[in-house]
Amino acid sequence: MALRQVRTIGDDILYKKCKPVKEMTPRTAQLIDDMFETMYENCGVGLAAPQVGVLKQIVVIDVEDGDQYLLINPEIIEEEGTQTGHEGCLSVPGKSGIVTRPDKVKVRALDENMEPFILEGEGMLARAICHECDHLKGELYVSLVQGDLVDVEDLEEEEE
Ligand code: ZN
Repeated sequence: MALRQVRTIGDDILYKKCKPVKEMTPRTAQLIDDMFETMYENCGVGLAAPQVGVLKQIVVIDVEDGDQYLLINPEIIEEEGTQTGHEGCLSVPGKSGIVTRPDKVKVRALDENMEPFILEGEGMLARAICHECDHLKGELYVSLVQGDLVDVEDLEEEEE
């Protein structure tokens, strides 16, 4: 496994659409391992392939609910309710903003064996699924923020 460099806001690659994965190759398997490692190293709860410079429809998520999620070619097929809260992104370091997302989502994706499955997520997991799927469309959460982006440090002071 190897750490990959996380691309940050302003980098062209973050605004491009990703291509579906057609087959699992050793190279893609390596990419997935590296994405998990890079996400954990940076204390993220999710990471999409374009954030490490690869325009493929691959997402990894770990919202600390005891599971690791890998979504290949994900497609959100159902959304329910809304939730409004703080969101951040490894590609927008040190910043946070208020975003409204569905409270529950159902996503169809492929697993590491390219087998289809359906994942239902609620709360934090639903937020992460939406955020990461947006990355695959070349969209960053900053375009959805209500009000201004704030510095995470200021936010932590407020909460103390
Ligand atoms: Zn992000």
